Amino acid sequence: MSLLFVFVDGVGLGPPGPSNPLSRLSGGPLAPLGGVCPLEEGFRLLRADACLGVPGLPQSATGGTALFTGVNAPAQVGEHLQGLPNRALRDILARHSLLRRARERGRRVDFANAYTPAFFARGSNRRRSVTTVMTESAGLPLKRLEDLRRGEAVYRDFTNRLLREQGAAAELLTPEEAGLRLGRLALQGDLLVYEYFQTDHAGHRGTLEDALRVLEELNRFVGSALKVLEPERDGFILTSDHGNIEDMTHSAHTPHQVPVLLWGRAAADWPVGEDMTLCGIAPAILSLLKGE
Ligand SMILES: [Zn+2]
Repeated sequence: MSLLFVFVDGVGLGPPGPSNPLSRLSGGPLAPLGGVCPLEEGFRLLRADACLGVPGLPQSATGGTALFTGVNAPAQVGEHLQGLPNRALRDILARHSLLRRARERGRRVDFANAYTPAFFARGSNRRRSVTTVMTESAGLPLKRLEDLRRGEAVYRDFTNRLLREQGAAAELLTPEEAGLRLGRLALQGDLLVYEYFQTDHAGHRGTLEDALRVLEELNRFVGSALKVLEPERDGFILTSDHGNIEDMTHSAHTPHQVPVLLWGRAAADWPVGEDMTLCGIAPAILSLLKGE
């Protein structure tokens, strides 16, 4: 079994309506997240609470840490922290992350995202996100543009459009081509994580049309990745750290539950019930990997 885990920042489950771009998707794997389209065969959609009993709106540093460790990170640090993880969160990630624990159990795990030379050039001052801390502290090398050019990594906007705008030499990919690449990378191991945060970016700064365009591309990307996987053998999980893009009437995060979209073996064997929180996701994935 190969598991592909796509983490999308800032995607919640809100009421359908004209300001929810998810409910304007007319088909594909993400359309049911808008509350209008039914799930396609092989999928299961669960909801997870992202507020975790802590007042205020959920944020990325604490939400991502909870999601990737199973530890109630906002409760541990006493608030929802935005942006990059602080030392307390980095410690939680270093000790309890999904990638570390799966690797210690002998699983072949990887993080698909490529990093730019500018990131590495900052040395110890580099901005280390939740997934970066998780990957490094699990003892895995971060992927570089050389990996991307060999087809062995995916950039954070997956088409490489942003990368090319920054002046890097990289092939422009369609969402379908990028999705096939991600799916093929997933098949090389037991668990592959990919992070996409243009969704949160669009929710903060974009128009409704920007948000819809981002979601349509993501939908095509995910649909294409699933074509490479075998539902009887492999699994797919898509989830988020907090809501944002599902309510384009404002630019802030939302307290909405987040989707846990499952497919294939992940849908068939998911060990947690309907009533879950972000903290249930990492343990459930470890349980899926153990069931092999
Ligand atoms: Zn945000």
